[in-house]
Amino acid sequence: MLRNHSLAQAISNVGWHQITSMLAYKAEWYGRDFVQIDKWYPSSKRCHACGHLCDAMPLSVRHWDCPACGASHYRDINAAKNILKAGKAILAGADKLREHEQKTTVGRTGG
Ligand SMILES: [Zn+2]
Repeated sequence: MLRNHSLAQAISNVGWHQITSMLAYKAEWYGRDFVQIDKWYPSSKRCHACGHLCDAMPLSVRHWDCPACGASHYRDINAAKNILKAGKAILAGADKLREHEQKTTVGRTGG
């Protein structure tokens, strides 16, 4: 996003921390989930179709074909699909933790 000059200026003025804080606040306000994935997660160079991870991918590469499965990717769309998948995986893990905590709580109150 920082490559888009007008968007980069807006982001630089506000800062990533403030943007994520506002997103978290709005998500909670509307009863939605807000999930942050690891900032180093290789979302752009991982094939969303098969999971193959490319070694290196300069920012100038906007379109690429997966050497493992042959899927054709637009960099940002592929990254968005990987980020969604990673976020859902985190939520699925959080759901399992909540279920475990509820069972533990039920066990404590029942015992
Ligand atoms: Zn692939």
